[in-house]
Amino acid sequence: MNELCHWIDGREVKGTSGRFTEIFNPATGEVQARVPLATPAELDAAIASAARAQEKWAATNPQRRARVMMKFGALINDNMDALAELVSCEHGKTLPDARGDIQRGLEVIEVCMGAPSLLKGEFTDNAGPGIDLYAMRQPLGVVAGITPFNFPAMIPLWKMGPALVSGNAMILKPSERVPSTSLMLAKLAQEAGLPDGVLQVVNGDKEAVDAILDHPTIQAVGFVGSTPIAQYIYSRAAAHGKRAQCFGGAKNHMIIMPDADLDKAADALIGAGFGAAGERCMAISVAVPVGEATADALIERLVPRIEKLKVAPYTGGDDVDFGPVITGAAKQRIEGLIGSGVEQGAKLVIDGRGLQIQGYENGFFVGPTLFDDVTPDMDIYKEEIFGPVLSTVRAQSYDEALKLVCDNEYGNGTAIFTADGDTARDFASRVNVGMVGINFPIPVPLSYYSFGGWKRSAFGDLNQYGPDAFRFYTKTKTVTSRWFSGIREGASLNFKAMD
Ligand code: NAD
Repeated sequence: MNELCHWIDGREVKGTSGRFTEIFNPATGEVQARVPLATPAELDAAIASAARAQEKWAATNPQRRARVMMKFGALINDNMDALAELVSCEHGKTLPDARGDIQRGLEVIEVCMGAPSLLKGEFTDNAGPGIDLYAMRQPLGVVAGITPFNFPAMIPLWKMGPALVSGNAMILKPSERVPSTSLMLAKLAQEAGLPDGVLQVVNGDKEAVDAILDHPTIQAVGFVGSTPIAQYIYSRAAAHGKRAQCFGGAKNHMIIMPDADLDKAADALIGAGFGAAGERCMAISVAVPVGEATADALIERLVPRIEKLKVAPYTGGDDVDFGPVITGAAKQRIEGLIGSGVEQGAKLVIDGRGLQIQGYENGFFVGPTLFDDVTPDMDIYKEEIFGPVLSTVRAQSYDEALKLVCDNEYGNGTAIFTADGDTARDFASRVNVGMVGINFPIPVPLSYYSFGGWKRSAFGDLNQYGPDAFRFYTKTKTVTSRWFSGIREGASLNFKAMD
Protein backbone atom coordinates (compact mmCIF):
# COMPACT_ATOMS: atom_id res chain seq x y z
CA MET A 1 0.00 0.00 0.00
CA ASN A 2 1.18 3.53 -0.81
CA GLU A 3 2.40 5.09 2.44
CA LEU A 4 2.59 8.89 2.46
CA CYS A 5 5.15 10.93 4.39
CA HIS A 6 5.44 14.28 6.14
CA TRP A 7 7.38 17.10 4.42
CA ILE A 8 9.99 18.35 6.88
CA ASP A 9 13.07 20.47 6.17
CA GLY A 10 12.55 20.16 2.44
CA ARG A 11 12.28 16.39 2.17
CA GLU A 12 9.87 13.54 2.66
CA VAL A 13 10.07 12.09 6.15
CA LYS A 14 8.39 8.85 7.19
CA GLY A 15 6.06 8.96 10.18
CA THR A 16 7.27 7.28 13.36
CA SER A 17 4.05 7.06 15.37
CA GLY A 18 2.85 3.76 13.92
CA ARG A 19 -0.60 5.37 13.64
CA PHE A 20 -2.17 5.93 10.22
CA THR A 21 -5.40 7.09 8.56
CA GLU A 22 -6.61 5.33 5.44
CA ILE A 23 -7.20 7.45 2.37
CA PHE A 24 -10.08 6.22 0.22
CA ASN A 25 -10.77 6.51 -3.44
CA PRO A 26 -14.32 7.84 -2.89
CA ALA A 27 -15.45 6.58 -6.30
CA THR A 28 -14.58 2.94 -5.62
CA GLY A 29 -14.64 2.87 -1.83
CA GLU A 30 -11.18 1.27 -1.88
CA VAL A 31 -8.29 2.34 0.32
CA GLN A 32 -5.66 3.86 -1.97
CA ALA A 33 -3.01 4.99 0.53
CA ARG A 34 -2.40 5.59 4.18
CA VAL A 35 -1.07 8.70 5.83
CA PRO A 36 0.96 8.78 9.05
CA LEU A 37 -0.43 10.65 12.05
CA ALA A 38 2.26 12.70 13.77
CA THR A 39 3.07 12.56 17.47
CA PRO A 40 3.69 15.65 19.61
CA ALA A 41 7.43 14.80 19.51
CA GLU A 42 7.44 14.83 15.70
CA LEU A 43 5.67 18.19 15.77
CA ASP A 44 8.10 19.55 18.30
CA ALA A 45 11.03 18.74 16.01
CA ALA A 46 9.28 20.19 12.94
CA ILE A 47 8.41 23.40 14.82
CA ALA A 48 11.96 23.82 16.19
CA SER A 49 13.48 23.58 12.75
CA ALA A 50 10.79 25.89 11.29
CA ALA A 51 11.75 28.46 13.94
CA ARG A 52 15.41 28.30 12.86
CA ALA A 53 14.50 28.64 9.17
CA GLN A 54 12.08 31.50 9.87
CA GLU A 55 14.76 33.85 11.22
CA LYS A 56 16.67 33.86 7.94
CA TRP A 57 13.49 33.94 5.84
CA ALA A 58 12.17 36.97 7.76
CA ALA A 59 15.48 38.75 7.05
CA THR A 60 15.07 38.13 3.30
CA ASN A 61 13.73 41.30 1.74
CA PRO A 62 10.03 41.29 0.77
CA GLN A 63 10.73 41.60 -2.92
CA ARG A 64 12.79 38.40 -2.89
CA ARG A 65 10.06 36.64 -0.93
CA ALA A 66 7.54 37.87 -3.50
CA ARG A 67 9.72 36.46 -6.30
CA VAL A 68 9.42 33.03 -4.70
CA MET A 69 5.63 33.49 -4.90
CA MET A 70 5.91 34.43 -8.59
CA LYS A 71 7.83 31.27 -9.36
CA PHE A 72 5.52 29.22 -7.13
CA GLY A 73 2.49 30.55 -9.03
CA ALA A 74 4.12 29.69 -12.36
CA LEU A 75 4.90 26.16 -11.17
CA ILE A 76 1.33 25.65 -9.96
CA ASN A 77 0.15 26.65 -13.43
CA ASP A 78 2.65 24.35 -15.13
CA ASN A 79 1.53 21.46 -12.92
CA MET A 80 -2.20 22.19 -13.08
CA ASP A 81 -3.17 18.83 -14.60
CA ALA A 82 -1.15 16.73 -12.16
CA LEU A 83 -2.46 18.73 -9.19
CA ALA A 84 -6.05 18.43 -10.44
CA GLU A 85 -5.65 14.67 -10.77
CA LEU A 86 -4.44 14.47 -7.15
CA VAL A 87 -7.35 16.60 -5.92
CA SER A 88 -9.91 14.53 -7.81
CA CYS A 89 -8.58 11.11 -6.90
CA GLU A 90 -8.55 11.84 -3.16
CA HIS A 91 -11.57 14.14 -2.95
CA GLY A 92 -13.74 12.78 -5.77
CA LYS A 93 -14.68 16.12 -7.38
CA THR A 94 -14.67 16.46 -11.17
CA LEU A 95 -11.49 17.57 -12.94
CA PRO A 96 -12.88 20.99 -14.03
CA ASP A 97 -13.98 21.58 -10.44
CA ALA A 98 -10.53 20.50 -9.17
CA ARG A 99 -8.94 23.02 -11.56
CA GLY A 100 -11.23 25.69 -10.09
CA ASP A 101 -10.11 24.63 -6.60
CA ILE A 102 -6.46 25.15 -7.62
CA GLN A 103 -7.20 28.33 -9.58
CA ARG A 104 -8.90 30.09 -6.64
CA GLY A 105 -5.87 29.23 -4.51
CA LEU A 106 -3.48 30.38 -7.20
CA GLU A 107 -5.24 33.75 -7.33
CA VAL A 108 -4.26 34.29 -3.68
CA ILE A 109 -0.64 33.48 -4.57
CA GLU A 110 -0.90 36.10 -7.34
CA VAL A 111 -1.91 38.73 -4.77
CA CYS A 112 1.07 37.64 -2.64
CA MET A 113 3.34 38.66 -5.53
CA GLY A 114 2.45 42.24 -4.53
CA ALA A 115 3.60 41.70 -0.95
CA PRO A 116 6.19 44.51 -0.92
CA SER A 117 3.35 47.00 -1.36
CA LEU A 118 1.00 45.19 1.00
CA LEU A 119 3.60 44.97 3.75
CA LYS A 120 4.58 48.65 3.59
CA GLY A 121 4.40 50.49 6.88
CA GLU A 122 3.43 54.06 7.77
CA PHE A 123 5.63 57.08 8.32
CA THR A 124 5.04 60.56 9.72
CA ASP A 125 7.84 62.98 9.10
CA ASN A 126 8.35 65.69 11.74
CA ALA A 127 5.76 64.44 14.21
CA GLY A 128 7.45 66.79 16.73
CA PRO A 129 10.77 68.65 16.99
CA GLY A 130 13.31 66.28 15.44
CA ILE A 131 10.79 63.46 15.83
CA ASP A 132 9.71 60.94 13.21
CA LEU A 133 7.06 58.34 13.88
CA TYR A 134 6.77 55.11 11.94
CA ALA A 135 4.95 51.81 12.09
CA MET A 136 6.26 48.63 10.52
CA ARG A 137 4.78 45.23 9.93
CA GLN A 138 6.83 42.32 11.16
CA PRO A 139 6.16 38.60 10.81
CA LEU A 140 4.81 36.70 13.79
CA GLY A 141 7.31 33.80 13.68
CA VAL A 142 6.06 30.23 13.26
CA VAL A 143 2.35 29.98 12.48
CA ALA A 144 0.07 27.02 11.80
CA GLY A 145 -2.53 26.25 9.12
CA ILE A 146 -5.11 23.53 9.74
CA THR A 147 -7.29 22.80 6.72
CA PRO A 148 -10.42 20.81 5.74
CA PHE A 149 -10.96 18.08 3.16
CA ASN A 150 -13.24 19.90 0.77
CA PHE A 151 -10.73 22.18 -0.97
CA PRO A 152 -7.46 20.22 -0.98
CA ALA A 153 -5.56 22.92 -2.92
CA MET A 154 -7.39 26.22 -2.43
CA ILE A 155 -7.46 26.46 1.35
CA PRO A 156 -3.84 25.35 1.97
CA LEU A 157 -2.84 28.00 -0.62
CA TRP A 158 -5.01 30.62 1.13
CA LYS A 159 -3.09 29.85 4.30
CA MET A 160 0.46 29.42 3.06
CA GLY A 161 0.67 32.32 0.58
CA PRO A 162 0.05 35.31 2.87
CA ALA A 163 1.75 33.67 5.88
CA LEU A 164 4.96 32.81 4.04
CA VAL A 165 5.35 35.94 1.96
CA SER A 166 4.95 37.98 5.16
CA GLY A 167 8.11 36.33 6.51
CA ASN A 168 6.62 33.62 8.70
CA ALA A 169 7.32 29.91 8.70
CA MET A 170 4.28 27.65 8.58
CA ILE A 171 3.35 24.27 9.96
CA LEU A 172 0.59 23.11 7.63
CA LYS A 173 -1.63 20.30 8.91
CA PRO A 174 -3.83 19.38 5.95
CA SER A 175 -6.93 17.23 6.23
CA GLU A 176 -5.88 13.63 6.73
CA ARG A 177 -8.47 12.69 4.06
CA VAL A 178 -6.69 14.62 1.25
CA PRO A 179 -3.03 15.21 2.19
CA SER A 180 -1.33 14.56 -1.17
CA THR A 181 -2.07 17.94 -2.75
CA SER A 182 -0.46 19.82 0.15
CA LEU A 183 2.60 17.58 -0.08
CA MET A 184 2.92 18.31 -3.79
CA LEU A 185 2.44 22.05 -3.22
CA ALA A 186 5.26 21.98 -0.66
CA LYS A 187 7.59 20.37 -3.22
CA LEU A 188 6.65 23.03 -5.78
CA ALA A 189 7.29 25.78 -3.21
CA GLN A 190 10.77 24.34 -2.65
CA GLU A 191 11.37 24.28 -6.42
CA ALA A 192 10.28 27.93 -6.48
CA GLY A 193 13.06 28.81 -4.03
CA LEU A 194 11.35 28.61 -0.65
CA PRO A 195 14.10 27.72 1.84
CA ASP A 196 13.85 24.33 3.51
CA GLY A 197 12.05 24.36 6.86
CA VAL A 198 9.97 27.47 6.11
CA LEU A 199 7.00 25.29 5.12
CA GLN A 200 6.56 22.01 7.00
CA VAL A 201 3.65 19.75 6.12
CA VAL A 202 2.88 17.60 9.12
CA ASN A 203 0.06 15.09 8.75
CA GLY A 204 -2.09 14.14 11.66
CA ASP A 205 -5.35 14.14 13.53
CA LYS A 206 -6.52 15.62 16.84
CA GLU A 207 -3.28 14.62 18.58
CA ALA A 208 -1.20 16.67 16.14
CA VAL A 209 -3.66 19.58 16.26
CA ASP A 210 -3.58 19.69 20.06
CA ALA A 211 0.23 19.64 20.00
CA ILE A 212 0.13 22.66 17.66
CA LEU A 213 -2.38 24.51 19.83
CA ASP A 214 -0.37 23.97 23.02
CA HIS A 215 3.09 24.64 21.56
CA PRO A 216 4.64 27.85 22.87
CA THR A 217 6.52 28.58 19.61
CA ILE A 218 3.37 28.68 17.46
CA GLN A 219 2.23 32.30 17.33
CA ALA A 220 -0.96 32.05 15.30
CA VAL A 221 -3.41 29.45 14.07
CA GLY A 222 -5.44 29.75 10.87
CA PHE A 223 -8.12 27.04 10.83
CA VAL A 224 -10.85 26.11 8.36
CA GLY A 225 -13.29 23.27 9.03
CA SER A 226 -16.53 22.45 10.81
CA THR A 227 -18.03 24.77 13.43
CA PRO A 228 -17.57 22.61 16.56
CA ILE A 229 -13.87 22.10 15.77
CA ALA A 230 -13.43 25.78 14.80
CA GLN A 231 -14.82 26.83 18.15
CA TYR A 232 -12.69 24.32 20.02
CA ILE A 233 -9.51 25.39 18.22
CA TYR A 234 -10.27 29.06 18.73
CA SER A 235 -10.76 28.59 22.49
CA ARG A 236 -7.70 26.41 23.01
CA ALA A 237 -5.41 28.59 20.86
CA ALA A 238 -6.65 31.76 22.57
CA ALA A 239 -6.16 30.19 26.02
CA HIS A 240 -2.49 29.85 25.07
CA GLY A 241 -2.33 33.50 24.01
CA LYS A 242 -2.17 32.76 20.28
CA ARG A 243 -3.74 34.76 17.51
CA ALA A 244 -6.48 32.60 15.98
CA GLN A 245 -8.90 32.87 13.08
CA CYS A 246 -11.12 29.82 12.79
CA PHE A 247 -13.63 29.51 9.97
CA GLY A 248 -16.47 27.06 10.43
CA GLY A 249 -19.51 25.54 8.77
CA ALA A 250 -22.45 27.10 7.01
CA LYS A 251 -26.09 26.94 5.99
CA ASN A 252 -26.36 29.29 3.05
CA HIS A 253 -29.77 30.56 1.92
CA MET A 254 -30.80 31.96 -1.44
CA ILE A 255 -33.90 34.14 -1.52
CA ILE A 256 -35.83 34.09 -4.77
CA MET A 257 -38.15 37.08 -5.15
CA PRO A 258 -41.30 36.91 -7.32
CA ASP A 259 -39.73 39.34 -9.82
CA ALA A 260 -36.56 37.24 -10.27
CA ASP A 261 -35.64 35.59 -13.56
CA LEU A 262 -36.65 32.09 -12.41
CA ASP A 263 -34.73 30.21 -15.10
CA LYS A 264 -31.55 31.99 -14.07
CA ALA A 265 -32.34 31.40 -10.38
CA ALA A 266 -32.92 27.68 -11.02
CA ASP A 267 -29.66 27.38 -12.98
CA ALA A 268 -27.83 29.12 -10.15
CA LEU A 269 -29.36 26.79 -7.56
CA ILE A 270 -28.29 23.72 -9.52
CA GLY A 271 -24.65 24.85 -9.60
CA ALA A 272 -24.55 26.21 -6.05
CA GLY A 273 -26.55 23.39 -4.47
CA PHE A 274 -25.11 20.33 -6.18
CA GLY A 275 -21.63 21.33 -7.45
CA ALA A 276 -18.90 19.29 -5.69
CA ALA A 277 -21.74 17.13 -4.28
CA GLY A 278 -22.69 20.05 -2.02
CA GLU A 279 -19.37 19.76 -0.18
CA ARG A 280 -18.65 23.48 -0.24
CA CYS A 281 -18.87 25.88 2.68
CA MET A 282 -20.44 28.36 0.26
CA ALA A 283 -22.90 25.86 -1.25
CA ILE A 284 -26.51 27.02 -1.27
CA SER A 285 -28.37 24.44 0.78
CA VAL A 286 -31.63 26.36 1.36
CA ALA A 287 -33.78 27.94 -1.36
CA VAL A 288 -36.25 30.50 -0.03
CA PRO A 289 -38.82 31.38 -2.71
CA VAL A 290 -41.09 34.26 -1.71
CA GLY A 291 -44.77 33.55 -2.35
CA GLU A 292 -46.51 30.27 -3.27
CA ALA A 293 -46.54 31.03 -7.00
CA THR A 294 -42.77 31.69 -7.00
CA ALA A 295 -42.18 28.46 -5.06
CA ASP A 296 -44.30 26.33 -7.41
CA ALA A 297 -42.68 27.83 -10.49
CA LEU A 298 -39.20 27.34 -9.04
CA ILE A 299 -39.77 23.66 -8.15
CA GLU A 300 -41.18 23.13 -11.62
CA ARG A 301 -37.92 24.44 -13.09
CA LEU A 302 -35.62 22.64 -10.65
CA VAL A 303 -36.98 19.12 -11.14
CA PRO A 304 -36.06 18.59 -14.81
CA ARG A 305 -32.69 20.22 -14.28
CA ILE A 306 -31.91 17.92 -11.33
CA GLU A 307 -33.10 14.84 -13.20
CA LYS A 308 -30.54 15.59 -15.91
CA LEU A 309 -27.54 15.71 -13.56
CA LYS A 310 -24.90 13.06 -14.16
CA VAL A 311 -23.36 11.68 -10.99
CA ALA A 312 -20.24 9.61 -11.70
CA PRO A 313 -16.53 9.20 -10.94
CA TYR A 314 -14.31 12.05 -12.16
CA THR A 315 -12.96 9.66 -14.77
CA GLY A 316 -16.46 9.23 -16.21
CA GLY A 317 -16.19 11.78 -19.05
CA ASP A 318 -16.49 15.52 -19.61
CA ASP A 319 -20.19 15.57 -18.85
CA VAL A 320 -19.95 14.44 -15.19
CA ASP A 321 -21.70 16.99 -12.98
CA PHE A 322 -20.54 15.80 -9.60
CA GLY A 323 -18.86 12.84 -7.96
CA PRO A 324 -19.06 10.91 -4.71
CA VAL A 325 -18.97 12.35 -1.19
CA ILE A 326 -15.79 11.98 0.80
CA THR A 327 -16.33 8.82 2.90
CA GLY A 328 -18.77 6.01 3.53
CA ALA A 329 -19.56 7.62 6.89
CA ALA A 330 -20.44 10.91 5.15
CA LYS A 331 -22.75 9.04 2.73
CA GLN A 332 -24.47 7.28 5.62
CA ARG A 333 -24.92 10.52 7.55
CA ILE A 334 -26.36 12.37 4.52
CA GLU A 335 -28.78 9.53 3.73
CA GLY A 336 -29.77 9.43 7.41
CA LEU A 337 -30.56 13.15 7.33
CA ILE A 338 -32.66 12.69 4.18
CA GLY A 339 -34.60 10.01 6.08
CA SER A 340 -35.10 12.38 9.01
CA GLY A 341 -36.51 15.01 6.63
CA VAL A 342 -39.14 12.55 5.45
CA GLU A 343 -39.99 11.50 9.02
CA GLN A 344 -40.28 15.11 10.16
CA GLY A 345 -42.76 15.97 7.41
CA ALA A 346 -40.82 17.61 4.59
CA LYS A 347 -41.88 16.77 1.04
CA LEU A 348 -39.19 14.70 -0.68
CA VAL A 349 -39.46 15.75 -4.33
CA ILE A 350 -36.33 13.93 -5.56
CA ASP A 351 -34.67 11.20 -3.50
CA GLY A 352 -30.93 10.66 -4.01
CA ARG A 353 -30.58 7.76 -1.59
CA GLY A 354 -29.48 4.33 -2.71
CA LEU A 355 -27.80 5.53 -5.91
CA GLN A 356 -25.84 2.70 -7.54
CA ILE A 357 -23.35 3.34 -10.32
CA GLN A 358 -22.44 0.38 -12.46
CA GLY A 359 -18.87 -0.71 -11.79
CA TYR A 360 -18.68 1.58 -8.74
CA GLU A 361 -21.17 -0.13 -6.44
CA ASN A 362 -18.98 0.49 -3.36
CA GLY A 363 -18.38 4.17 -4.15
CA PHE A 364 -19.68 6.88 -1.81
CA PHE A 365 -22.29 8.27 -4.20
CA VAL A 366 -25.40 10.15 -3.14
CA GLY A 367 -27.78 11.37 -5.83
CA PRO A 368 -29.13 14.92 -5.98
CA THR A 369 -31.97 15.38 -3.54
CA LEU A 370 -34.68 18.05 -3.43
CA PHE A 371 -36.98 18.82 -0.52
CA ASP A 372 -39.98 21.15 -0.50
CA ASP A 373 -42.04 22.41 2.47
CA VAL A 374 -39.07 22.36 4.84
CA THR A 375 -39.54 24.20 8.13
CA PRO A 376 -36.87 25.64 10.46
CA ASP A 377 -37.51 23.08 13.22
CA MET A 378 -36.45 20.13 11.02
CA ASP A 379 -32.99 18.56 11.28
CA ILE A 380 -32.42 18.95 7.53
CA TYR A 381 -32.78 22.69 8.07
CA LYS A 382 -30.77 22.93 11.29
CA GLU A 383 -27.82 20.70 10.33
CA GLU A 384 -25.12 21.48 7.80
CA ILE A 385 -25.75 18.42 5.58
CA PHE A 386 -22.64 18.93 3.40
CA GLY A 387 -24.09 16.77 0.64
CA PRO A 388 -26.13 17.16 -2.57
CA VAL A 389 -29.36 18.06 -0.77
CA LEU A 390 -31.32 21.24 -1.48
CA SER A 391 -34.09 22.22 0.94
CA THR A 392 -36.87 24.62 0.01
CA VAL A 393 -38.36 26.78 2.76
CA ARG A 394 -41.34 28.73 1.48
CA ALA A 395 -41.67 32.33 2.75
CA GLN A 396 -44.71 34.53 2.32
CA SER A 397 -42.89 37.87 2.19
CA TYR A 398 -39.45 39.40 1.77
CA ASP A 399 -39.40 40.32 5.47
CA GLU A 400 -40.13 36.73 6.47
CA ALA A 401 -37.35 35.48 4.17
CA LEU A 402 -34.87 38.03 5.51
CA LYS A 403 -35.75 37.10 9.10
CA LEU A 404 -35.18 33.41 8.33
CA VAL A 405 -31.66 34.13 7.08
CA CYS A 406 -30.90 36.46 9.99
CA ASP A 407 -32.18 33.99 12.60
CA ASN A 408 -29.99 31.16 11.31
CA GLU A 409 -27.02 30.40 13.53
CA TYR A 410 -24.61 30.40 10.56
CA GLY A 411 -23.60 33.45 8.55
CA ASN A 412 -21.12 32.45 5.87
CA GLY A 413 -22.78 33.31 2.55
CA THR A 414 -26.20 34.19 1.21
CA ALA A 415 -27.79 35.37 -2.03
CA ILE A 416 -30.87 37.10 -3.33
CA PHE A 417 -32.28 36.81 -6.85
CA THR A 418 -34.44 39.79 -7.77
CA ALA A 419 -35.00 42.38 -10.49
CA ASP A 420 -35.52 45.14 -7.93
CA GLY A 421 -32.53 47.26 -6.95
CA ASP A 422 -34.12 48.56 -3.76
CA THR A 423 -34.81 45.08 -2.44
CA ALA A 424 -31.30 43.94 -3.32
CA ARG A 425 -29.78 46.97 -1.66
CA ASP A 426 -31.87 46.55 1.46
CA PHE A 427 -30.89 42.88 1.67
CA ALA A 428 -27.15 43.58 1.31
CA SER A 429 -27.37 46.22 3.99
CA ARG A 430 -29.52 44.42 6.60
CA VAL A 431 -28.60 40.75 6.36
CA ASN A 432 -26.22 39.57 9.11
CA VAL A 433 -24.07 37.35 6.88
CA GLY A 434 -20.43 37.89 5.87
CA MET A 435 -20.63 37.37 2.09
CA VAL A 436 -23.64 38.40 0.02
CA GLY A 437 -24.52 37.68 -3.61
CA ILE A 438 -27.00 39.71 -5.65
CA ASN A 439 -28.17 37.56 -8.56
CA PHE A 440 -24.91 35.69 -7.82
CA PRO A 441 -25.15 32.39 -5.98
CA ILE A 442 -21.67 31.68 -4.52
CA PRO A 443 -20.23 35.06 -3.60
CA VAL A 444 -16.66 33.98 -2.76
CA PRO A 445 -14.80 37.29 -2.92
CA LEU A 446 -11.90 37.62 -5.35
CA SER A 447 -8.43 37.30 -3.88
CA TYR A 448 -7.81 41.02 -3.39
CA TYR A 449 -10.81 41.22 -1.02
CA SER A 450 -11.03 39.03 2.10
CA PHE A 451 -13.20 35.97 2.80
CA GLY A 452 -15.06 35.37 6.05
CA GLY A 453 -18.42 34.55 7.54
CA TRP A 454 -20.31 35.93 10.54
CA LYS A 455 -22.05 34.34 13.53
CA ARG A 456 -21.09 30.68 14.09
CA SER A 457 -19.33 30.47 10.72
CA ALA A 458 -16.20 32.19 12.04
CA PHE A 459 -14.41 32.68 15.35
CA GLY A 460 -11.69 35.26 15.88
CA ASP A 461 -10.65 38.43 14.14
CA LEU A 462 -9.91 39.31 10.54
CA ASN A 463 -10.83 37.38 7.43
CA GLN A 464 -8.73 35.12 5.26
CA TYR A 465 -6.64 36.19 2.23
CA GLY A 466 -6.70 39.72 0.80
CA PRO A 467 -5.77 42.71 2.96
CA ASP A 468 -6.94 41.07 6.20
CA ALA A 469 -4.51 38.16 5.81
CA PHE A 470 -1.54 40.51 5.79
CA ARG A 471 -2.84 42.06 9.01
CA PHE A 472 -3.37 38.64 10.56
CA TYR A 473 0.09 37.31 9.71
CA THR A 474 2.03 40.41 10.82
CA LYS A 475 2.27 42.45 13.98
CA THR A 476 2.73 46.17 14.01
CA LYS A 477 5.65 47.83 15.73
CA THR A 478 5.53 51.61 16.14
CA VAL A 479 8.77 53.55 16.55
CA THR A 480 9.12 57.12 17.83
CA SER A 481 12.52 58.39 16.77
CA ARG A 482 14.16 61.69 17.77
CA TRP A 483 17.41 63.25 16.59
CA PHE A 484 18.67 66.18 18.64
CA SER A 485 20.08 68.58 16.07
CA GLY A 486 18.59 72.04 16.62
CA ILE A 487 16.67 71.07 19.79
CA ARG A 488 17.35 73.06 22.98
CA GLU A 489 15.26 71.30 25.59
CA GLY A 490 16.09 70.21 29.12
CA ALA A 491 14.62 67.33 31.09
CA SER A 492 10.84 67.30 31.60
CA LEU A 493 8.83 65.02 33.88
CA ASN A 494 5.52 65.82 32.25
CA PHE A 495 3.69 63.55 29.84
CA LYS A 496 3.18 66.06 27.10
CA ALA A 497 2.37 66.65 23.50
CA MET A 498 5.25 66.37 21.07
CA ASP A 499 4.84 69.88 19.57
P1 NAD B 1 -13.31 19.06 10.16
O1 NAD B 1 -13.66 20.10 11.16
O2 NAD B 1 -13.71 17.66 10.43
O3 NAD B 1 -11.72 19.01 9.95
C1 NAD B 1 -10.97 20.17 9.68
C2 NAD B 1 -9.57 20.00 10.24
O4 NAD B 1 -9.65 19.83 11.66
C3 NAD B 1 -8.83 18.77 9.69
O5 NAD B 1 -7.50 19.13 9.43
C4 NAD B 1 -8.95 17.76 10.83
O6 NAD B 1 -7.83 16.92 10.90
C5 NAD B 1 -9.01 18.64 12.07
N1 NAD B 1 -9.82 18.02 13.14
C6 NAD B 1 -10.92 17.24 12.97
N2 NAD B 1 -11.41 16.87 14.17
C7 NAD B 1 -10.61 17.44 15.11
C8 NAD B 1 -10.62 17.44 16.54
N3 NAD B 1 -11.54 16.78 17.24
N4 NAD B 1 -9.67 18.14 17.18
C9 NAD B 1 -8.73 18.82 16.49
N5 NAD B 1 -8.67 18.86 15.14
C10 NAD B 1 -9.61 18.18 14.45
O7 NAD B 1 -13.87 19.57 8.76
P2 NAD B 1 -13.91 18.79 7.37
O8 NAD B 1 -14.95 17.74 7.45
O9 NAD B 1 -12.55 18.43 6.93
O10 NAD B 1 -14.42 19.97 6.40
C11 NAD B 1 -15.77 20.29 6.19
C12 NAD B 1 -16.20 21.47 7.04
O11 NAD B 1 -15.38 22.60 6.78
C13 NAD B 1 -17.61 21.92 6.74
O12 NAD B 1 -18.26 22.21 7.95
C14 NAD B 1 -17.41 23.18 5.91
O13 NAD B 1 -18.48 24.09 5.95
C15 NAD B 1 -16.20 23.75 6.55
N6 NAD B 1 -15.52 24.69 5.68
C16 NAD B 1 -15.55 26.01 6.01
C17 NAD B 1 -14.94 26.95 5.20
C18 NAD B 1 -14.96 28.40 5.56
O14 NAD B 1 -14.13 29.14 5.04
N7 NAD B 1 -15.84 28.85 6.44
C19 NAD B 1 -14.30 26.53 4.03
C20 NAD B 1 -14.28 25.16 3.72
C21 NAD B 1 -14.89 24.25 4.56
